[in-house]
Amino acid sequence: MVKPTAKEPCVFCKIVAGEVPSYKVYEDDEVLAFLDVNPVNPGHLLVVPKAHYKTITDMPKDLYEEIAEKVWELSLKMQKALDPDGMNIVQNNNEHAGQLVPHYHVHVIPRYSGDSDRYIEEWKTKDLSKEEMKEVQAKLQS
Ligand code: 5GP
Ligand code: ZN
Repeated sequence: MVKPTAKEPCVFCKIVAGEVPSYKVYEDDEVLAFLDVNPVNPGHLLVVPKAHYKTITDMPKDLYEEIAEKVWELSLKMQKALDPDGMNIVQNNNEHAGQLVPHYHVHVIPRYSGDSDRYIEEWKTKDLSKEEMKEVQAKLQS
């Protein structure tokens, strides 16, 4: 098992270490998936590396890929087991992007036609000019 590396063990490190209980759904040497304690819907999953990394840019590529593969497998399992009408795959990086727990995690959220909220409607979108679109395109391409 990968040892948590956070200086002050965070709540997900404690879940990995078994010091905080969780409803586990999947586990291997590198990855753990468990139910979110505040689910958007029943089955709302969190998929985490056992090692402590805060954000996507902290993660080694192979571990990122490992997690992505498990998210894919678990989304198939969720589709089969719960038959949702949709799923949100959400991953927040840093507080300004809504990250509350500073240990990398991917939300896998089953969504249903009757849900009263839709995640994307909470985003405020911006009207950008052609120039602004081109400017940011160039920054991302370079
Ligand atoms: P974030 O906003 O960081 O992407 O989401 C953190 C998620 O972790 C939240 O949805 C929250 O409900 C969940 N969470 C926080 N503490 C615990 C805990 O102790 N156990 C579980 N299972 N989930 C937690
Ligand atoms: Zn941690």
